[in-house]
Amino acid sequence: MKETRSTCPYCGVGCGVIIHSEGAQITGVKGDPQHPANFGRLCSKGSTLQLSATAEVTLQTRLLQPLQRLVRGSTPQPVTWDSALHTATTKFAQIIRDYGPDAVGFYVSGQLLTEDYYVFNKLAKGLIGTNNIDTNSRLCMSSAVAGYKKTLGADAPPNCYDDVQFAQTLFIAGSNTAFAHPVLFRRIEDARRANPTQKMVVVDVRRTDTAEVADLFLQIQPGTDVMLFHGMLHLMLWEGWVDPAYMRAHTSGFDALKATVRDYTPDAVAATCGIRKEDLVLASRWFAGVDDSDVAHSRTPTLSLYCQGLNQSSAGTAKNAALINLHLACGQIGKPGAGPFSLTGQPNAMGGREVGGLANLLSAHRDLANPAHRAEVAALWGVSQVPDKPGKTAVEMFQAAADGEIKALWIACTNPAQSMPDQATVRRALERAEFVVLQEAFATTATCAYADLLLPATTWGEKDGTVTNSERRISRVRPAVAAPGDAHHGPRHDWAIAVDFAQRLEKLLVASTVPIEGLNQAQPTRSLFPYPTPESVWNEHRESTRGRDLDITGMSYQQLEERPLQWPMREGQSAGAQRLYEDGVFPTADGRAHFANVVYKPVAEARDARFPFSLTTGRLRDQWHGMSRTGTVGRLFGHVSEPAVLMHPQDMARRLLKEGDLVHLSSKRGAVVLPVQASKALAMSQLFMAMHWGEEFVSGLGAKGQRLSGVNALTTSAFCPDSKQPEFKHAAVKVVKAELP
Ligand code: SF4
Repeated sequence: MKETRSTCPYCGVGCGVIIHSEGAQITGVKGDPQHPANFGRLCSKGSTLQLSATAEVTLQTRLLQPLQRLVRGSTPQPVTWDSALHTATTKFAQIIRDYGPDAVGFYVSGQLLTEDYYVFNKLAKGLIGTNNIDTNSRLCMSSAVAGYKKTLGADAPPNCYDDVQFAQTLFIAGSNTAFAHPVLFRRIEDARRANPTQKMVVVDVRRTDTAEVADLFLQIQPGTDVMLFHGMLHLMLWEGWVDPAYMRAHTSGFDALKATVRDYTPDAVAATCGIRKEDLVLASRWFAGVDDSDVAHSRTPTLSLYCQGLNQSSAGTAKNAALINLHLACGQIGKPGAGPFSLTGQPNAMGGREVGGLANLLSAHRDLANPAHRAEVAALWGVSQVPDKPGKTAVEMFQAAADGEIKALWIACTNPAQSMPDQATVRRALERAEFVVLQEAFATTATCAYADLLLPATTWGEKDGTVTNSERRISRVRPAVAAPGDAHHGPRHDWAIAVDFAQRLEKLLVASTVPIEGLNQAQPTRSLFPYPTPESVWNEHRESTRGRDLDITGMSYQQLEERPLQWPMREGQSAGAQRLYEDGVFPTADGRAHFANVVYKPVAEARDARFPFSLTTGRLRDQWHGMSRTGTVGRLFGHVSEPAVLMHPQDMARRLLKEGDLVHLSSKRGAVVLPVQASKALAMSQLFMAMHWGEEFVSGLGAKGQRLSGVNALTTSAFCPDSKQPEFKHAAVKVVKAELP
């Protein structure tokens, strides 16, 4: 039996795993006791990984060879890799030649490894010359990125998991940590056992399992987070709980914010958020870390943990920034147990941010909008330029394809036909695009039906590279077994597929007598993609970080073989930084953190007489995304076995609904039918539906009669103007008892 140390492919906690294998078969998985994210622990998802990788499951669910559809809607036919990539190259080159580089788009994933992400980003922005590359991480953390940059000057979560035990107050906002980051939640439970006086405040629209164990639960109305945070700052100012010395020394912009929060009185905040004034006072005091004695000498550390409840919002950036404002006002940052700590949903959302794999970013946290940054990246890559035209972000990309503006889509390791909001528009985009390539490990996702070309990718247990977790820790992902199949037909690594395609496109350019306008290499003399291994890709990425806030020039693959490391870790350093901003210097032009003068705006789609319920979405404890992996493990249905929309019992009684009745749930965009279930975790007029259930479980119809499925038949694509992250956490819906034929 062989043992291979690797990383769990599910959530952003980034737990280390030890994979047991015999020959081509993964026979077991256990937690890695030496990994600093989990010290040997795994949750229900991580501990059942081997069950989703058995030979039987592989045969039933995996995409095992390249497939091509000559006619949309037909059964795809097996082709060789050479044929598949020749087709892809020819088609992309033709579309670029006919319509320009911005007629193609790449939609990638936080499930990809950093090396995969790097190659795709360079392929789009460096070779093809389009910034139309975005990621499903746009759907989960782009508001956290924008919030950090707006206030602290860089996209860098300043804390580490150890801070959970140093905090005296844990302020958890918009995060059901118990379900979404279970092993981190175990550490929270440990910290609370070790320090019974530690306080835990939870802010959420639902009484989640996390809220159940809080010392104070603020069940706010949907979308009112900024109102709450500004109300807390108002109170802190009034009571003298802020830290003027910290603000004077390390921040700027407070006067404007102070004028704004004057209007956020406790009465107004309590009424808008739907909470009690005394709870607002208590939350403010615990956050500030003060008691009734000498404030300056008795301030205790506060750590906030936050996730999709803040991020997935049409005011996502404002919510992030308003929370960070509180940390700056109280000096609750840059010391053990204090700081604003955003949690990443996906295993490598952080790695995607690091390589600039989003439409508005460039390598190593550079900004596309910055001409100097574009020039630096062009020089690093050896291309004439990086285009300045902003790329399409996730929602914009599919809208552009639905409008006929984007003609070819390359989708890697994600399932937009299920996971994007406003599914009707996304499916229209996939139908209208002239050419859709889907690079996937699984043959079971809803997006497969729309692909002209399906390219089989390797998956967890086979892949080789790195990921970065929520605390900036880079871990190795190692192959325990070889991918099934042979080199001509079997799955290939994501980075290698992108490299093969890129090199073919380069050769086509050399051979082409008709210049392909916009492409960056008129007559390339050497490949931009000279990568024999993932390490060679990572080394180029590492060099791109030199002198940047996430500088990893002190790290190597060899060091990562020994232990996972946190960034930054500059050349000559022997360890990474556990936490940031301990010296009070921020990566802004003036070295100060900037208060963000944001204002409260309500949700994008208000409830009305026609759509009187607020629908929110979220995770179940034992499922992951669209269930392509967890859905193969019977044991993981033991916690929740079937889909349901959750509703307050009094709302059910008023509508004469009984437990298990089928209801017709609809928004302006579509409708689904599923059972209703009573839940006192919700306030009146609010509903909850898990994000995981797809076509096999919850079918639906679009407003124009098209076939849809799952909760995203209903959600809105309204997004935050700064981060472009869509508002999954609120849609106005109506619910009626389903009429059965
Ligand atoms: Fe995997 Fe997250 Fe569970 Fe850890 S907490 S085992 S990373 S799903």
